[in-house]
This record gives sequence, C-alpha cells and structure tokens, in this order.
Amino acid sequence: MSARRVIVVGGGAAGFFAAITCAEAAPDTGVTVIEKGPHFLSKVRISGGGRCNVTHACFDARELTARFPRGERALRAPFMTFQASDTVAWFESRGVKLKTESDGRMFPASNSSQTIIDCLLGAAKAAGVKLRPNSGVERVAKLPDGGFGLTLAGKPSSLSLREERAGREPERGAVQKTNLLSPALSSRFAGGEGESSAGETLFCDHLLLATGGCRAAAAGQMAVSLGHTLEPPVPSLFTFHIGTPWLRALAGISVEPVEASVPGARLRERGALLATHWGLSGPVILRLSAWGARVLHGLNYEFPLHLNWLPQISAEAIFKDLDSRRKTQPARFIVNTPVAPLPSRLWEQLVLAAGIARDTRWAALSRSAQHQLVQQLIRTEFQVTGKSLNKDEFVTCGGVRLGEVNFKTMESRICPGLHFAGELLDIDGITGGFNFQAAWTTGWIAGQAMAAHA
Ligand SMILES: Cc1cc2nc3c(=O)[nH]c(=O)nc-3n(C[C@H](O)[C@H](O)[C@H](O)COP(=O)(O)OP(=O)(O)OC[C@H]3O[C@@H](n4cnc5c(N)ncnc54)[C@H](O)[C@@H]3O)c2cc1C
Repeated sequence: MSARRVIVVGGGAAGFFAAITCAEAAPDTGVTVIEKGPHFLSKVRISGGGRCNVTHACFDARELTARFPRGERALRAPFMTFQASDTVAWFESRGVKLKTESDGRMFPASNSSQTIIDCLLGAAKAAGVKLRPNSGVERVAKLPDGGFGLTLAGKPSSLSLREERAGREPERGAVQKTNLLSPALSSRFAGGEGESSAGETLFCDHLLLATGGCRAAAAGQMAVSLGHTLEPPVPSLFTFHIGTPWLRALAGISVEPVEASVPGARLRERGALLATHWGLSGPVILRLSAWGARVLHGLNYEFPLHLNWLPQISAEAIFKDLDSRRKTQPARFIVNTPVAPLPSRLWEQLVLAAGIARDTRWAALSRSAQHQLVQQLIRTEFQVTGKSLNKDEFVTCGGVRLGEVNFKTMESRICPGLHFAGELLDIDGITGGFNFQAAWTTGWIAGQAMAAHA
C-alpha cells in the first residue's frame, strides 16, 4: 500500500506544528509544507519585537480560554489536550528553554525568535517533513473519490533546510521540481477540472489549511471553495487615535492601573495605559480593542472613551483626600501636589482640564471645582477618532466559522479530510502569547488527527 500524503498549506506557526506532529506520530506519512513566501515562519521571526512571545504562563486550561474574545468555547476541549504547559514542555524537550516575564509572557531564554525558528526547522527536518517555499497555492479541489488536488501559482522551487536556516535564497542548482500527483491522478484531476495547465498540481489524502489571518477576505477563499463560511475579517489588537492636545503632550507616560470603558458598547478593562504621540496604547487599550473588535469596527473607530485614573479608590475617598489637602497644605499650588500614584505631568493636565487655574492654591479650591476635579479623575472623556495597528502584535478577528470545524480533530464538518489550524480560524486572543498558543494547540491536534488517519 502506498504511503498516505499530507499537505500543509502555510509555513507559519500552526502549519509547522501540525506538520511536525503528524510526521513524528506517523513516520510513514509523506508530509509537505507549502509556503508562498521565500521564507518559512516569517511572523514568528518578527513576533514579540523579534523575541517571540511563544505563550503565556497561564497553565489552567479554563483560565486560558478566557483570554480569547473569539474562540473561548471552541478552545475549551483543545486546551484540555494541549495547553501552555504542553507548549513549554514541547520546546524544552527540544532544547529550547523559555523564561517568564513579570506579566506572564513567555519568551525563549535567548530573547531571540531565531531560537524558535531553528527549533521548528530542526524538528521538521528530523521528522522528515518536506518544505516547499515560493509555492503559493492558488486553488484546491476535492477529488471525487477522496483526496485533494492543489494548483500552485507560478514556478515552484525547493529550498534546502540548511539554506533556509541560513536565511539564504536558493541557489540555481538547488531548485528541484516535485510533483506529488501520481500520473493517473494527475490526468484525472487535470481532466476533471481542466485547469492544471496554469500551474503545477499536487495531490494529497489529507489537507491542512493554515494560511493565517484573512485580513483580506481573499485569503480565506480556499476554505470557501471547499464549502466553508468566513466570518468577516476585522482587525483586533489596535491602539486608539485621540486628538486632545494635552493628552498628546503626555506621550511616553504610563499609568497603572487605569480603568477604560466605552459607554454604550459594554466594554470595560483595567490595566496599564500608555500615552502616545497619536493617542492611547498599552495593555488596557489592546484588551478593549480585542474584546470590542467587531463593535468598534461597527462604530468606524469613532466613539467616546472614559478613563478612571484611580480605579482602586472610590470617588468618596478621593473627595475626602482632596478635602484633607485643603486643610493640610492650603498655601500650595494644586497643580504641584499630585495625588499618588499619578505622574505629576498627568496630574497637572487633569487639574487644568477640570477648569482649575494653574495658580489656584488648595485653600482657594471651591466646592464645585473640587467636584469637577473628582469627575476628571474618575471619568475623563476622550473622543477616539481612529485606530493604528499595534506594532508588536496584531491579529485578525474573523475567519473560518467555528461551528463548521470539529475541535477534537480540527477536521472540517463539511469536507472530510480537510483540516484547519491557526489564525485562519475565527479565533483570536488578547495580546501576551495567546495567539501563538492557539496556533500551537490547533496545529498539534490537527497533526495528531491526520496521523491517526494515515
Ligand atoms: C508583528 C506581529 C507580532 C506578533 N507577535 C506575537 C507574539 O509575540 N505572540 C503571539 O502569540 N502572537 C503574535 N502575533 C500573532 C501571531 O503571529 C499569529 O497569530 C500567528 O503567527 C498565526 O499563525 P498561523 O500559522 O496561523 O499564521 P501565519 O503565521 O500568518 O502563517 C501563515 C502562512 O501561510 C502562508 N500562506 C498564506 N496563503 C498561502 C497560500 N495560498 N499558499 C501557500 N502559503 C500561504 C503565509 O505566507 C504565511 O507564511 C504577532 C503578529 C504580528 C503581525
């Protein structure tokens, strides 16, 4: 009996994890990763500012799912099978030590994403996975009596692992043509579809689509052509544009904790906030953007934002604190005596925004001005006028509809033999290593399932 063939489309985190898992679990299976770009794992390379935030030190499967605005329920069972602690063990068993930062994010101890790339490329090589860069898949078709035919765009090439690890383009002599389609199947596919002349055609028994987020809906068309539905793509993990001049003057200041909310959209998050040259960023804003990805897109990224700068203190306690300052430091200027833990530059701007003149002393603070100041401290309102993608990590909300996938195997419920993994699915997490964790988990499960069929 001839060996079964598995093709993984997409040489990113999810595709590699699936291919390695499948090839290790079923060594007789021919596993090939097809990547349209010249290099594999290109997002891993740039991830986490070049350090790759591999996962998060959250080792409770239920808690882990709570970090996914899309996919929370679907990921429950997968995380019971392969969660963050399994990721740590997987990399450590292959010689990659991970370290945990104070906020829970986990990185390679080397602080370099290249360590993760080397590990994945090395594991793929050891497991006999075949790698084909520069091979964009243009079309896929389900063959009438089982398996899939894939049509590649343009001229394919094959890069040796050693060259890929060195980050070099292939030498002329290294280019080899491969055609996984047997002559009989080749003529059947070509004849049946009448479309193989445009590019090389490949055949496989099991197909994994791991082509990443569909920021452009065209990126999900292969899944659609096989009967799947795409939830419309919109960005997640972005920062807010705010034109208020005094806020922009505070660029670089960070405050923690701050409570940020979007009235009317039922969005509320607490955490560190960073003032930038264009508005606001930091974990609290990224979390709001992730949970509110769809609703904020619906508002065209124009909405009021409320900030409570002192969420750990009640409004009454703040009022009393200001009262006592009137008594204990009556002669001091208000702008010069900030309430802890607010940075003095921020305090100064909040006092001015409350309508209190720069030369007002505590003794001269009127009752109504004191109320204004408390309001400013617990509910500053800004108008958000747009968004920017976060430079350290961004993902797409939307993708293949989750109800159409069996999360025990990552196999399509619509098209048997077709599997999915990674960001192509309508799954996205908040920032902090959760998006890679979803890629590792879904890739691992898909790899195991394809191996079990082989
Ligand atoms: C700048 C940046 C930094 C990030 N940092 C982090 C981080 O530190 N931690 C974290 O958890 N997440 C991070 N993310 C998110 C994370 O990178 C993604 O969630 C993750 O890479 C998804 O993996 P994937 O394999 O599903 O998709 P991808 O990594 O996008 O891989 C998909 C691959 O498929 C290929 N492909 C697409 N179409 C075809 C086709 N037709 N034929 C052949 N190949 C095709 C693509 O070229 C690509 O190489 C970051 C994202 C960005 C943009």
